[in-house]
Amino acid sequence: MKTGKSEQHVIPTTGLNARSISAAFDEMSIRDVQWRDGKAFSLAYNAGPDVLAIAEEAYKRFSGANALNTAAFPSLRQMQGEVLEMAGVWLGSTPDSAGYFTSGGTESILMAVKAARDQFRSDSSITHPNIVLPTSAHAAFDKAAAYFGVELRRVAVLPDWRADVAAMATTIDQNTIMIIGSAPQYPQGVVDDIPALAALALQRNINCHVDACMGGVSLAYLAKLGHQIAPWNLRVDGVTSISVDLHKFGYTSKGASVIMYANKRLRSFQGFFTDQWLGGVYASSGMLGTKSGGSIAAAWAVMHFLGDDGYLRLTNSARIATEKLAAHITSHSHLALLAQPDALLLSFVAQEPTRLNIYAVADEMWKRGWYIDRQEPPQSLHCTVNAVHDSVIDEMIADLDACIAIVLDTGITGEVGAYGTLS
Ligand SMILES: *Cc1c(COP(=O)(O)O)cnc(C)c1O
Repeated sequence: MKTGKSEQHVIPTTGLNARSISAAFDEMSIRDVQWRDGKAFSLAYNAGPDVLAIAEEAYKRFSGANALNTAAFPSLRQMQGEVLEMAGVWLGSTPDSAGYFTSGGTESILMAVKAARDQFRSDSSITHPNIVLPTSAHAAFDKAAAYFGVELRRVAVLPDWRADVAAMATTIDQNTIMIIGSAPQYPQGVVDDIPALAALALQRNINCHVDACMGGVSLAYLAKLGHQIAPWNLRVDGVTSISVDLHKFGYTSKGASVIMYANKRLRSFQGFFTDQWLGGVYASSGMLGTKSGGSIAAAWAVMHFLGDDGYLRLTNSARIATEKLAAHITSHSHLALLAQPDALLLSFVAQEPTRLNIYAVADEMWKRGWYIDRQEPPQSLHCTVNAVHDSVIDEMIADLDACIAIVLDTGITGEVGAYGTLS
């Protein structure tokens, strides 16, 4: 860790007390985005102090429990199973479906790719597998490909940012094991045509993964709220796996996602087993060995605390804030939405002709505490809108206008930044 100090940070000779540790946290986090106050339009989610308290209490209680071996922790086995069954309703699980609790969207995606690879390794003569996916699909697929030796074939999206199913069809060859659709995709917030992708997969006898890391919760409740939502989950014939992040719109602590497969056989290719060492039989479901019970208990607690009516209310609040922001950007003379949001994500660009640098707007917003994600191509800002924003969206919009005025006035420029960092 880079501390910015010249001398090395060492463990104290005598331990600190709780009060000084808390004070150190206060000092270190002083420049962190104030996500509990709704300042983050990326990375963090908040359904209110009562939900946070439930999650933190559950996390605290099970933080040292280890789900690596649930024979020792039947509570964690039960909680994981119940979380999977509850999330399965959102994901359109059938009696054949089977899933695993994972540490996040990345692990869920890594495991979907690994399971597909090993399934085809077992059932076919494919030795150089590839996956066909739109340019909008998450970077975690690149990570999966790099980790598991699978070739990725990215296909340009349509002008409306959705997957180009016809172009994907011509990119599939005899070594293709899986195609990907997102519900919604992160960069522009639109849902791919999942029925068309799933039909293509069925026709070619390959797998189809739906990345619903963002939409798995919100699309389920937007549909209940009466929004027109095209089919996107396991109920679509041909979808073989689907991922949903509970630590996003499930509003639980970080470290919680679900990967659900259409059947138990496909799921069986996710697991790892060995007895080739001196420690006996070792089996694990995912990337992790030791797995904190904290995130499992927090997910179980928050889902029970909120219930269907809680998620309906939160989805409605977040959607209202999303629509307000989208309407403001649409009517703005200097901004343009890249797409009308299908769920709770949107992105926007500076409208031509203008000398507005969109990243400079993000810089100015950050000076006021608002953290907005930057992306390219095209140079744009991205907002993940959640329930906490309902009460601050008017203030955010006013600051956005004020920041745009400053950038127009001064002609300052900014940098693109990154979605994730190495340090
Ligand atoms: C967040 C996200 C992921 C990755 O999930 P992590 O929890 O960050 O590992 C994958 N796909 C989509 C669409 C996402 O929004």
